[in-house]
Order: sequence, then structure tokens, then C-alpha cells
Amino acid sequence: MDRAHGDLEYETFQFLSGHGCFGTYRKKIGKSNSAQCWNCQRLDKPDHILFCRKWEDTRKDLARATDGNPDFKYTKHNIVAKILENEVKWNLITEWIRTVMKAKAEEERERENAGRKPEQARYGDDGMMQPKMTTKPDYDHPDPNSSHIPRA
Ligand SMILES: [Zn+2]
Repeated sequence: MDRAHGDLEYETFQFLSGHGCFGTYRKKIGKSNSAQCWNCQRLDKPDHILFCRKWEDTRKDLARATDGNPDFKYTKHNIVAKILENEVKWNLITEWIRTVMKAKAEEERERENAGRKPEQARYGDDGMMQPKMTTKPDYDHPDPNSSHIPRA
């Protein structure tokens, strides 16, 4: 791919590669049992952000800004060509992808934290468990009275 206008940001790369914060990817790597979208229960594929109702408003703003028509529908087939049309569209579209992907990653983190057990709550300030000191022989300074070695 020709980097005509700038480098691909991490989130744009995630979107284009399909490796990232998507239900289908989470399921594939064993992070989740479900590949469904949290917002609409449909399959959360990489291009789902182009269809999910959650992003509809910002998607219309993007379509208006980049195509002049708020009802223009981006798909995984036309979005890359649009990104490459000119620098303004590159910036607008990749910015939108970045914003949506960051919001998705944030939601994923919150859901993971909510599902995690509060392990740390079990320990207080004195939670550092020290092994109990047990009485053991002082080898460097043996007690002469307890010696079993017969003296000459
Ligand atoms: Zn959805």
C-alpha cells in the first residue's frame, strides 16, 4: 500500500487488518466466547463499525464531510479508495476509524475489568505475608553447653 499522505496509525491498521478489538478476533484468540457486537448483537467483524447503529451519527457526519452526502455508505470495499483520494479525506476517515476503535478498546477494557474478581481486596496494608521466623540452631556461635562432642 502506498503511503501517500501519512503513516497508518495503530487503530487504522487494526481496522484494515482485522486484528484488534473485534468480536470475531476476540473469539478467534480465545479471549471471548462470543463474536457478537455488545451494542447490537450482530457479528462484530472488522467492518462492523461501518454498519453498527452505535456509530451511525458520527458515520453520517463523516459521510457528509467526505462525500457531501450523509447517506453515503462506506464499505470495506470502498473505504480504502476514499482514504486514498486526497489528504483531507485521508485525515477525516482515519481520524474517524481511530476514534471508533479507541472507543471500542475502552469498552473492551471496562468489560474485562468488570468481569475480573477483586483479588487485591483480600489483602490489607499488612498483606505482605512474611514467613514466620522459626528458631533454628546458630551454627556460627554454637552453644558449648549443648554440644554432644565429648571434650578432651
Ligand atoms: Zn453493533
